[in-house]
Amino acid sequence: MSAAPQRVIIVGGGPTGMTAAHALTRAGIDFVLLEGRHEIALDAGCNLVLSSMGMRALGQLGLLPALKKVSSPVTKFQRLDHKGRDIGDTMFFTYIQQSHGYYPRVFSRYNLMQVFYDNLPAEVRSKTLANKKVSDIRSTEHGVVVECADGTSYEGCMVIGADGAYSVVRKYMRELALKDEQRANTEAFVNEEKPFLTTYRCFWIRFPVLPGLKVGDAFETHGPNMATQFFVGEDSAVVGIYERLDEPTRDPRRCTVVDEKPFVEKWGNLPLTKGTTLTIAEAYAQKMDAGFINLEEGVVKHWSWGGRMVLAGDAAHKFTPSTGAGCNEGIIDIVVLANHLRRAFSSGAPSPDKLNAAFKEYQDARYELATFGCKLAGNTTAAATWPNAIYKFLDLRVFSSKMIQKFFINQGVATTAQTPVFDYIEGEEEIVGKVPWVHAIPSRTQIV
Ligand SMILES: Cc1cc2nc3c(=O)[nH]c(=O)nc-3n(C[C@H](O)[C@H](O)[C@H](O)COP(=O)(O)OP(=O)(O)OC[C@H]3O[C@@H](n4cnc5c(N)ncnc54)[C@H](O)[C@@H]3O)c2cc1C
Repeated sequence: MSAAPQRVIIVGGGPTGMTAAHALTRAGIDFVLLEGRHEIALDAGCNLVLSSMGMRALGQLGLLPALKKVSSPVTKFQRLDHKGRDIGDTMFFTYIQQSHGYYPRVFSRYNLMQVFYDNLPAEVRSKTLANKKVSDIRSTEHGVVVECADGTSYEGCMVIGADGAYSVVRKYMRELALKDEQRANTEAFVNEEKPFLTTYRCFWIRFPVLPGLKVGDAFETHGPNMATQFFVGEDSAVVGIYERLDEPTRDPRRCTVVDEKPFVEKWGNLPLTKGTTLTIAEAYAQKMDAGFINLEEGVVKHWSWGGRMVLAGDAAHKFTPSTGAGCNEGIIDIVVLANHLRRAFSSGAPSPDKLNAAFKEYQDARYELATFGCKLAGNTTAAATWPNAIYKFLDLRVFSSKMIQKFFINQGVATTAQTPVFDYIEGEEEIVGKVPWVHAIPSRTQIV
């Protein structure tokens, strides 16, 4: 059998996979991206907030001007309880702006994905293939063969699994690790079959920007067993309603349209904003689109297998949405991974050992931060849904204090300031605040 092409196969065309497509293009590494849905940019899902960390990395890829056009800055969360009482605003976004010089920005997922797609060079766009649901992955002597449900197959030297919380790449990594007889201690490389625990489900509703709502407005409703996060975007408003399940589960129930009515009957009266009388039921009555998502949480133990497959984004770590971190962290995964891959591919097709070393350095750089981010997000969702008197007290009396908010943001800003950059893409620093970035965007002469 001849050697597999020196090509990376990216499975999944979400934000992580599309960041990888841009990053590999800039690194001069050949790739093909396989996306199971019928289009890369689909009007599916919730709004997303990208922070200075994610925006800076996408800025290095040349996407900042296009991203700014389709997003709006968010300055604060206006918070209320289930009875509509003001429980104090959180000013995290403003404090982030004061430190990094940039307000986080809210996007519809559709607009974000469209920017990713439209800004790929035309000759590269043809390497991002929709309608390619990956159904099998085989490791061969020379590389990997990825089979799709439509009968096509693709050969490469490695796979990036950017295929979300129910990753098939992770599933095949596990099967291969279980079969691998050559390793002395097979157990040490085998991931759990169901690494994520689901404590909450989310029902999201997209509806028009109704009178009384302003683009960039953000609200949260907190209270027992249910909290909302509501963003008013450029072209629509989207609320995510996070409901605590009776029991946490590793086998979350798939909810469908028949579950919507009882859900809205249960929570419909709850208010969504300060200054208007808008309720969940009224938002639902005006819906352009809606759906359920499970909010899995967890960090996968082994992010790669055999120098052939590596995970990134939600496939590797899954957070609740409350801190708006999942997509940002997936982008930074790719920054770190792409830096290592560029070095590994610099002198031709890398051996599995070379790739294995690159994957290990990548996971070592990312694992602890992902674990911390996962816990922080879970605790933030718990605080908003008041599972007990302690969380309720923290939410109402502690997190409403501007001094405490500043304290937390200062800790976060110090960590964010250390975010790595693509070390092979020159550019200007466009996001500048009073806290300097530890790793500067390189100039042409600094790139080796
Ligand atoms: C309600 C809500 C609000 C959120 N808000 C924020 C926020 O404000 N900020 C933030 O940073 N994050 C936020 N997140 C998290 C963010 O959406 C995810 O972290 C992000 O989408 C992860 O991107 P990904 O590309 O890794 O995975 P995904 O977005 O899940 O994309 C995976 C892709 O892989 C494809 N795929 C799956 N299986 C296959 C297969 N077999 N073959 C081919 N393709 C396949 C899927 O179709 C999909 O396109 C939020 C999440 C939710 C649920």
